[in-house]
Amino acid sequence: MNIILLGAPGAGKGTQAKRLEERYQMVQLSTGDMLRAAVASGSELGGRAKEIMDAGELVPDDLVIRMISVRIDEPDCAEGFLLDGFPRTTAQAGALDAMLAEKGLRLDAVIQIRVDEEALVERITGRFTCAACGAGYHDKFQRPEREGVCDNCGGTDFVRRDDDNEETVRNRMEAYRAQTAPILPHYEAQGLLLGVDGMADIDEVTEQLYKVLDG
Ligand code: ADP
Ligand code: ADP
Ligand code: ZN
Repeated sequence: MNIILLGAPGAGKGTQAKRLEERYQMVQLSTGDMLRAAVASGSELGGRAKEIMDAGELVPDDLVIRMISVRIDEPDCAEGFLLDGFPRTTAQAGALDAMLAEKGLRLDAVIQIRVDEEALVERITGRFTCAACGAGYHDKFQRPEREGVCDNCGGTDFVRRDDDNEETVRNRMEAYRAQTAPILPHYEAQGLLLGVDGMADIDEVTEQLYKVLDG
């Protein structure tokens, strides 16, 4: 199964993607994670992306389109993939359609995780992840079971993203409203768009996603 998880920054795409990966044998393809890896590796691409990401703006379309096209060709995507954070503009959505047609692939569903804007800032400013395994947490909504210890791997180092601060968040919300929300009609017209209520608890959102995907 090949799907897209759509939603504003902080809507819960990454959190839910991790849970769907196993159940449906899909690989999570997060352009944000890929870009952060490029920044950390000090590559030329990372150099180009860093400032844009820190400002909460979108990196150029051609750059992320190429990144996804190369990644989808890797063997682990053959069983299925879950796009998280891509496409984010109408140009990216158009390029994805063309790319999939060319590769003989198709989308099974596009799921929007709907969350009120006021909730997003709190979600993003409280977000942190395990430095060792990348498991996601939240200061208030998803604390590790044992204080300071990762539930998943036992790691004790945690990191916060440079761009998860209130000022950058405002720009990211604006980018979502102006550039990403307009792609919803694109998928609605294709009859692919489904939605879940992202204001519910993390486990409840997962249950809704199972229902939508199993149905
Ligand atoms: P996205 O990938 O859409 O940017 P994340 O999955 O990283 O969002 O979630 C943002 C933050 O909000 C994380 O700290 C996560 O633990 C928390 N979170 C995710 N889903 C929910 C939810 N349904 N209710 C409360 N907090 C949530
Ligand atoms: P979030 O879901 O919290 O917004 P992401 O990890 O998806 O965060 O993205 C972080 C940043 O990486 C974005 O603010 C943007 O600068 C860049 N980015 C990620 N995906 C894309 C994309 N598809 N197109 C353009 N920029 C992107
Ligand atoms: Zn961990």
